[in-house]
Amino acid sequence: MAKIKNENRALLIIDMLRDFLEPDGALFCGEKARRIIPFVAQQIEAFHQKGDLVIFICDSHKRNDPEFKLFKPHCLKGTKGAQIIPELPVNPKDIIVSKTRYSAFYQTNLEDILKRKRINKVFVAGVCTSICVMDTVGDLRNRDYEVYVLRQGVADFNPRFHRFALERMAKIYGAKII
Ligand SMILES: [Zn+2]
Repeated sequence: MAKIKNENRALLIIDMLRDFLEPDGALFCGEKARRIIPFVAQQIEAFHQKGDLVIFICDSHKRNDPEFKLFKPHCLKGTKGAQIIPELPVNPKDIIVSKTRYSAFYQTNLEDILKRKRINKVFVAGVCTSICVMDTVGDLRNRDYEVYVLRQGVADFNPRFHRFALERMAKIYGAKII
């Protein structure tokens, strides 16, 4: 008889894309962000080995996206800059969710995916800590998921915002920073 799992984990990898992680990318997040790459790759491998769900959340914009009033154009749909960095292992079983805003829930099917897979624990890594990571973690907590932010797996171009975001996610959202 198949064992019924009462714990279903998912790993959310946020915006580990060429435009954010490569020095010639449109919105490079800096060397600090590059330093998380090996750790993030290890975490993905570990989830793959256990057969747990890995979801890549990927910024994907149209040319005239209103977000470009705040940030210079980046991660244009179909371009190299919008690709997942080659250092990360992507399996055919992994799910890729395209997004156009900071939260991975905004106009995406992430909520359906998490429900369908009966996920209750979500681990989060990626960039930037104070933008897409924090907004996604907030939306996960609004939906009562147990959330773990991987401290060694998140980065931000602004170190002050990085520290503030970790503290806010812990104190205000009740996410566990591990
Ligand atoms: Zn964007």
